Amino acid sequence: MTTEPSFRESVDIMFNRAVKLMDLSPGLEQKVRVCNSTYTVRFGVRLRGQIHTFTGYRSVHSEHMEPVKGGIRFAMGVEQDEVEALAALMTYKCALVQAPFGGSKGGLRIDPREWDAHEMEQITRRFAYELIKRDLINPSQNVPAPDMGTGEREMAWIVDQYRRMNTTDINAAACVTGKPINSGGIQGRVEATGRGVQYALQEFFRYDEDKAKANLSGKLKDKRVIVQGLGNVGYHAAKFVSEEDGAKVVAVIEHDGAVVNADGLNIDLLREHIEMTGGVKDFLNAEFIPDGASVLEMDCDILIPAALEGVINLTNADRIKANLIIEAANGPITSGADEVLMHKGVVIIPDMYANAGGVTVSYFEWVKNLSHIRFGRMQRRQEESRHQLLLDELQRLGDDPSITWNLSEDFKAKYLKGADELELVRSGLDDSMRAAYQSMRQVWHSRDDVPDLRTAAFLVSIERVAASYRSKGL
Ligand code: GLU
Repeated sequence: MTTEPSFRESVDIMFNRAVKLMDLSPGLEQKVRVCNSTYTVRFGVRLRGQIHTFTGYRSVHSEHMEPVKGGIRFAMGVEQDEVEALAALMTYKCALVQAPFGGSKGGLRIDPREWDAHEMEQITRRFAYELIKRDLINPSQNVPAPDMGTGEREMAWIVDQYRRMNTTDINAAACVTGKPINSGGIQGRVEATGRGVQYALQEFFRYDEDKAKANLSGKLKDKRVIVQGLGNVGYHAAKFVSEEDGAKVVAVIEHDGAVVNADGLNIDLLREHIEMTGGVKDFLNAEFIPDGASVLEMDCDILIPAALEGVINLTNADRIKANLIIEAANGPITSGADEVLMHKGVVIIPDMYANAGGVTVSYFEWVKNLSHIRFGRMQRRQEESRHQLLLDELQRLGDDPSITWNLSEDFKAKYLKGADELELVRSGLDDSMRAAYQSMRQVWHSRDDVPDLRTAAFLVSIERVAASYRSKGL
């Protein structure tokens, strides 16, 4: 049995590897590394005739910018070390995509499948109450979001709980992101993390030099992709790269095993199958492999781990055949496996960048809530009438018998349409993902001592966090 560092130690090891290449004072290095505080709460809820005690956490890694940001996870594996590692990753993630937040994370040790919706609401509201009264949920201090085991439903309960406790706070909606549209959410937040994974891959495939490092060439089209975990992130990433970029999702690994089809799986049908039957087994037109973990080692171009941390570790790293791994989950590769893969020449697009789409769109949602107006509401029709003006003028010129061109109806329809909120969100996300990738690759290619994108990502974000501490006089 190989012993490996814990998730949190893994994050620290990778941080240390990067920070060694920097010129930070030891005091500042320590300040950036440590987790500022972790609040633990144990609370009781009367359910099914008896009191059940639950344990929850909210950890704040860095307050160099406030509010601090990061999801709340509902899972049985939640414990202090995990929440702290995830909070640290949030700090680096926000710095990398330039979302103006410090890093935080929360968690509740619970198996959400054991409780019905009404019970979950009571538990969530009680947990939120404990955090709100300590300003650990607050629009200007700490803004949670969905994570594993939570989604729009939980965020709606949390914002409502905050409103009940802060009846005159005009910015109450901004206390949490990932809300449903009717509770102050934003278009495109549910798909955001998966969409960000797609944009990250598209950006990677724009650079021949980067593809060459992974022994890949050409476009995303027809690339063989394996996805582990068809939750919110994995589902959207798999759907978008297959439907829009023409990649082939040749295998999907879920908790009950894996399904494989060399011609590519239909992701929407598979998702429906999982919702109906609870697993991937018996999905039509695909081979079922009960030992899901073995499918991680199958031959493919791109591997997308989108489930738990630590799934690629010292026990399987040397058998991984993917050329490129994009970490849609947080911490799916242990620090030991990271080194093994690096020596094998596998390129890894690191979590703090790859899954930053969620927090990026959360940032847009928070801004929308604080500005109390939906994106595009002021400009959209004005933009359309200016486009109409241009088309009318072109059409008038086109009427000149000496000029023979004409504008196609399709072009006119597309050009005339002003951008709605969803399009603006996607464009803002694409821009953020591209800019962040470019800042990482610039460091990756310009320094001989930076072996991989993860180290480059750490260098960029640690430098930004350190600069912010320095400017505060630390
Ligand atoms: N839970 C997501 C993450 O780990 C989103 C965080 C957020 O939107 O604040 O990045």
